[in-house]
Amino acid sequence: MPNKQYAVIGMGRFGLSVARSLSKLGFDVLAIDASEQRIQDVADYVTHAVAVDSTDEEALRSLGLRNFDVVVVAIGEDIQASILTTLILKELGVPQLIVKAQNELHGKVLSKIGADKVVFPERDMGIRVAHHLISPNILEYIELSNDYSIVELKAPAFAVGKNLRQLDVRAKYKCNVLAIKMDGELNISPNAEDIIKENDVLVIVGKNEHIADLELDYA
Ligand code: ATP
Repeated sequence: MPNKQYAVIGMGRFGLSVARSLSKLGFDVLAIDASEQRIQDVADYVTHAVAVDSTDEEALRSLGLRNFDVVVVAIGEDIQASILTTLILKELGVPQLIVKAQNELHGKVLSKIGADKVVFPERDMGIRVAHHLISPNILEYIELSNDYSIVELKAPAFAVGKNLRQLDVRAKYKCNVLAIKMDGELNISPNAEDIIKENDVLVIVGKNEHIADLELDYA
């Protein structure tokens, strides 16, 4: 597999974390920020780091960004700069453009002008923390769409020793158990006879309202 080339624009907390993580995973990363200071701070962690204003079309063109496989735009506060940058990158023909949105409206604009994926890190993390607060058993919460989510929850005491047929989350909550995580192993097609053990994690998919009922009972 050829090494994919990534560029990340905007070295705020989110952009920096994306750039450093990709770099740690062994990928080539070009980090871009308008601030010289931010570029100096990140230079040691990525393949290349350049101080450039990403609303400068010529500058982006001369960096050869269209040859990168994925470009991540992580400019949050300056919504105008985020939109202009996205538009320029789209016109340059970047194959995959992932953009961080500050709010729903910003996200809508980004989708309309051609962002391939719009991410809402603060909103999504807020949702996860809230679900974890409802119950520490809830380890992960991922919204699949406006209507459906996946939740990972630690099996509560009442579920231990029972099998999936006895728990019957399908009839009780209209949700499906996708997988059971146990001791670092994943059973991805659990059957009705599989018994839940202490510390098992259930991966469940369902409609948000049904997941909410299940979360309260499994809290
Ligand atoms: P986070 O919450 O992830 O820290 P944020 O949403 O607050 O980030 P900002 O601080 O607004 O994001 O911007 C992130 C970075 O983007 C900053 O380092 C800023 O210098 C950079 N940035 C803003 N505008 C531009 C631009 N036009 N070109 C390049 N970099 C930019």
